[in-house]
Formats: sequence, structure tokens, C-alpha cells
Amino acid sequence: MGRKPLIAGNWKMNTDAVSAPNLAREVLQKTSRLRNVDIAVFPPFPLIPSVLKVLDGSAIGIGGQDISAELQGAFTGEVSAGMMTSLGCTYTLVGHSERREYHLESDELVNRKTIRALEAGLIPIVCVGEKLSERDGGETFARVERQIKVGLAGLSKEQMARVVIAYEPVWAIGTGRTATPQQAEEVHEFIRKLLATLFDQQIADATRILYGGSVKASNARELMSQPDVDGALVGGASLSSDDFAAIAESAG
Ligand code: PEP
Repeated sequence: MGRKPLIAGNWKMNTDAVSAPNLAREVLQKTSRLRNVDIAVFPPFPLIPSVLKVLDGSAIGIGGQDISAELQGAFTGEVSAGMMTSLGCTYTLVGHSERREYHLESDELVNRKTIRALEAGLIPIVCVGEKLSERDGGETFARVERQIKVGLAGLSKEQMARVVIAYEPVWAIGTGRTATPQQAEEVHEFIRKLLATLFDQQIADATRILYGGSVKASNARELMSQPDVDGALVGGASLSSDDFAAIAESAG
């Protein structure tokens, strides 16, 4: 379908003022010859300026791991989408399962954040995925359908054309337990069909749907060889420049 793969590295609450720019420098060196893949990194908020400095002028995109649903004002501890664009960020994660679980983020809040990101000119990577109990209960598709329908409610086609989706089964995040390529593909295919009914076929065909959940250099190629898997959202393995570069290489 001609979708350029995207490999996104979520550094979570890891790295510091020294190791974050160092990791960015290594990623830049090790991926600079890759042309057929987009790459983005998601450092913790305070480390973003130092990473931006290292990656300035490169093709590697930078994003935050979350944003506030509010525009500005008395929201202590929050970071606005406008702050991220003013720094030079391109992306933001929205609705990561760790935000949903530890900060009780609802599908409705994810929707407000997605719209806020788009209004500020950021590309939101909207994360969806079922818990193990939901998979075991046969609720995977219903859960993902609600996350997509509510999370993307009210978006125009023009806005949707800028959204990236990440399917991340919660039971596969940070657990070492990866979805099989077939398990990933059936949900990705389901999401694409859903996008066609919610928006249109052209948008569905153009939307990048990333897989996330214990992606490693050893399983990335097979996962991304699936027709509807358009890249990866990588947590643990993104903290090793060698592993992250190898994952990016298997996409490009
Ligand atoms: C993530 O943080 O989105 C993720 C998929 O983590 P991991 O690759 O460590 O499972």
C-alpha cells in the first residue's frame, strides 16, 4: 500500500541528562543510512531539548510520551501540546497503556488529547490494546473497537490523515511475551477495516498502524512483514542503540 514504516522508540522514564543525548547520538549514527523508514524517539520531557540539539537537522523525529488535554493554565505538572511544538517536537504518544493503567486515562480523555495534539500541529500516535483478561475473555476486538471509535471521535478526514495508531496488547508490553505475527495481523487488519467504515477506504489504506509489545531485533522482521503492520513502537529495546537500529533496519 506504499505506507512508509515508522519505528518509534519510547524511552519511558529512563535515561538522564547525560545518557539521553548519548543514546540519541548513537541512534543517529547507526540509522543514518536507512532511507525507507521513518524513525522517532520519545525521551522523557525534561530531556527533550538535549535530544533535539543532537538530532537537529536530522530526519529523526522527536515526541513526548504524553500531553495534557488542556490548552494552558493552572494545571500543575502538565505539559501542553503547544509547548511541544514550540520546542520542535513532531509527535506525541497518546493513550499509552501505562497512562491508561497508572493514571486512569479513559478513552474520552485520549480523544481530547488526540484532538489537542492535532490542533497544535503534532502527529499523535494513538495507542490501543487489550489486557490479558480481555483477550482471554474473547473481548479483544470489542475493546480495541471502543478505543478506536471513542479515541478518534470527531476527527475530520484531514485530521485523521495525520494520525498514527499503535496496537499494543497490554500483556505483551515489557513482558517479553510478543504477540505472534498472526495475532498482530488480525487486530491490525480489524483496525484498518474499522477506519474504512469510520472515515473512508483511502484513509484506512494510508494510516500507519504500528505494533508494540516486546518488539526485539529477533522478532521485528517477521512482525513487520505482515501486510497491515507498518512499523513498531519499541520500549525496552529502544534503550539499546544497537537493538533499536537493528529493528529499524528490519523495517527499511
Ligand atoms: C511500549 O513502551 O510501548 C512497549 C511496547 O514496550 P516494550 O517494547 O518494552 O514491550
